[in-house]
Amino acid sequence: MGNCIFCKIAKREIPKEFTYEDDDVMVFPDIHPVRPVHLLIIPKQHFSELITVTDPTLFQKLFIVVQKMVKEQGLEKKGYRVTINGGGAQLVQHLHIHLTGPLDKTVKI
Ligand code: AMP
Ligand code: ZN
Repeated sequence: MGNCIFCKIAKREIPKEFTYEDDDVMVFPDIHPVRPVHLLIIPKQHFSELITVTDPTLFQKLFIVVQKMVKEQGLEKKGYRVTINGGGAQLVQHLHIHLTGPLDKTVKI
């Protein structure tokens, strides 16, 4: 999509160091981290938000990468949160999953 920042990153029009990348998914750190680990797991194809995705295999691909990132970032036993903002709560209109941690039961963001 023309003006979408995450599409521009996916097309390498804006330089970005990826934490992980495959044909369908890219991962990089959030520029305004709320926890020591704050990654964005993002489909390279543009979807404006969660409910516009029609092919469930995309969710499979994304969440397999979420699992991989949880393990690689050492969060399995340190507490983590997986968040998707939508319906107008999101700042960027390109579907993305936040992975944040470490955290415990008392930390709610
Ligand atoms: P959301 O409110 O779920 O749309 O969150 C969008 C997130 O994208 C925010 O946490 C931003 O800090 C992050 N963000 C925006 N632009 C960039 C960028 N160029 N590189 C990394 N993170 C970004
Ligand atoms: Zn986009």
